[in-house]
Amino acid sequence: MGIDNHSKSFAAVSADGKRNLIGLDFIELTEALTARGLEKFRASQVWSWIYIRGARDFKDMTSLAKPTRDMLDEYFTIARPTVTQHQKSEDGTQKWLLRMQDGQEVESVHIPEEDRGALCVSSQVGCTLTCRFCHTGTQRLVRNLEPGEIVAQIMLARDYLNEWAAVSPEGVAKTRGTKPGRKTDVMPVRLLTNIVMMGMGEPLYNYENVAKALRIVMQDDGIAIGKRRITLSTSGVVPMIKRCGEELEVNLAVSLHAVTDELRDQIVPLNRKYPIKELLQACRDYPAASNSRRITFEYVMLKGVNDSPVDAKELVRLLRGIPAKINLIPFNAWPGAPFECSDWGTIQKFGDIVNEAGYASPVRTPRGRDIMAACGQLKSASLKLSATERAAIDKIISEKDKAQGLTATGL
Ligand code: SAH
Ligand code: SF4
Repeated sequence: MGIDNHSKSFAAVSADGKRNLIGLDFIELTEALTARGLEKFRASQVWSWIYIRGARDFKDMTSLAKPTRDMLDEYFTIARPTVTQHQKSEDGTQKWLLRMQDGQEVESVHIPEEDRGALCVSSQVGCTLTCRFCHTGTQRLVRNLEPGEIVAQIMLARDYLNEWAAVSPEGVAKTRGTKPGRKTDVMPVRLLTNIVMMGMGEPLYNYENVAKALRIVMQDDGIAIGKRRITLSTSGVVPMIKRCGEELEVNLAVSLHAVTDELRDQIVPLNRKYPIKELLQACRDYPAASNSRRITFEYVMLKGVNDSPVDAKELVRLLRGIPAKINLIPFNAWPGAPFECSDWGTIQKFGDIVNEAGYASPVRTPRGRDIMAACGQLKSASLKLSATERAAIDKIISEKDKAQGLTATGL
């Protein structure tokens, strides 16, 4: 199936005034279609064409009469974002640079494993936070992504991975699960099984849009990636953590990276607003966590900064009582980064201390480093912040009151 027909960029309303149906929830979709004279049940059909079969053109919706398809095409669109760059790493990781209608760009990364695969999805263009080790945090332009722009990243990956139900009879079985002994058993492995909100941006600074997008993605009669297969990573927006757990019940990952407020204030400036103690309390209270669904604590290994045995022991002490796993991430370098990755021996020693304390602590194998697709390397083309601008933003973050801090636009 050809994928080069993404000539139109993604926008909630396109330049020619058409409303994009991607990103509308089912009720909104029904309203939009019935307002144009369609019967209610047609909305279910259109929904499945979009989210089960992955239709990219109204013409393909063959269960609808031609005049209906023409009408849809006149008022609506289901265009994906434009792919401005598509790279494949030697380890199979793929990265897409996607352009939205306003010219802003974001990245999504697919990381295949033997029997599954995760898509790393962006929630914002850039990020208002300025974690010192993160490339995205050096980006000047920031805006929240719309729900449709988030959902479209997953749809686009499915296009490329050829995983829509309509692709082939095998595709239907692949998406819907295979029965043993059937011919379709030859292709049981799905490439996109999990979603990690770990791309560009802070998802809890764009909570409403992320929540709406994830609800669409989770819906059973659609993309159907369930809450247990979705992980949202936050640098620690404490007031939103509870809501995320209550409303979405997705897995939580927390970017901890330091065990003292003194250091965390420096490398994750949001800590000045929500210090470690408050953050860990929010984790203790996280409604969707349990022993079978532990919270992941991400810890980037920075040489000589946060990687000593004393740090490891303190990490273990801090996490006592929280159903946790610890993910040690070798620092991924980017041009001009002010850190180096810890030595392998140091990472191992750190991991041993954490393991001995009873925590699983996989060291995350860097994936896609050769195409700058690894954690923290994502950055679409926009100007780099100057040191003065970074300092100014840090100041705003620490001064902004909590309510204001919950929106990311405007910086
Ligand atoms: N804003 C969210 C999610 C996106 S960042 C957050 O901070 O959690 C995804 C993960 O990559 C975070 O754990 C982040 O701390 C980590 N990360 C950022 N820069 C990195 C780098 N250069 N090397 C390794 N991990 C990095
Ligand atoms: Fe933003 Fe996360 Fe990068 Fe920090 S690590 S700057 S919160 S994307």
